[in-house]
Amino acid sequence: MRSSKGSIGRPNSGGAREAHRERHLAALRAGLAASAPGPLTHDERDDLLTMREEEKVARDVYLRLFDRWGLRPFENIGASEQGHMDAILVLLDHHGVPDPAQGLGVGRFRSPEMQALHDRLVQEGLQAQGTAVRTGLVIEELDIADLRAAAGRTRRPEILAVYAELERGSRNHLRAFHRWMRRLGIQYAPTHLTEREFHSIATSEHERCQ
Ligand code: MN
Ligand code: MN
Repeated sequence: MRSSKGSIGRPNSGGAREAHRERHLAALRAGLAASAPGPLTHDERDDLLTMREEEKVARDVYLRLFDRWGLRPFENIGASEQGHMDAILVLLDHHGVPDPAQGLGVGRFRSPEMQALHDRLVQEGLQAQGTAVRTGLVIEELDIADLRAAAGRTRRPEILAVYAELERGSRNHLRAFHRWMRRLGIQYAPTHLTEREFHSIATSEHERCQ
């Protein structure tokens, strides 16, 4: 069983990918060990809490949709969202902020807004393969917009570095869902990014990890 325990199923070639993610997190922890925690501003704290839950929304929705549709992008991207959740958790831990996802299984959220967002996205994504792919696009658009907004509210390099990495991941996820969208012949109008931003990301090259 994949989705009931709050841990994520192993993706294909999951070993290599997991090792890669582990290296990223180790580098992040090592960098943080050299920087003093210092007090976060109210905005910085709120944004980290929101992003931790938002990455969980992405992971949990994709797990659900992979179970339903068996489309490979949901499995691979869901595994990547686990990495995003982990990176935010490292920042929360570093700054002594309690984890809002602590003890919550797949599909469960502390904030009522995130619970409602998750439930709505799952409901939409379960209707058909086409709506599932749309749901992926909505999540990635939202993630990019929220990461950009959060990056505008901090000057801390360690936080900015994580947001930049998560946004790069989200751009790649958006590209993957966009390819599926075209394959399935679906129309999609962006809601969180402008049409122009959406297209410039969706139609540009996959970005490699530095
Ligand atoms: Mn993400
Ligand atoms: Mn994503």
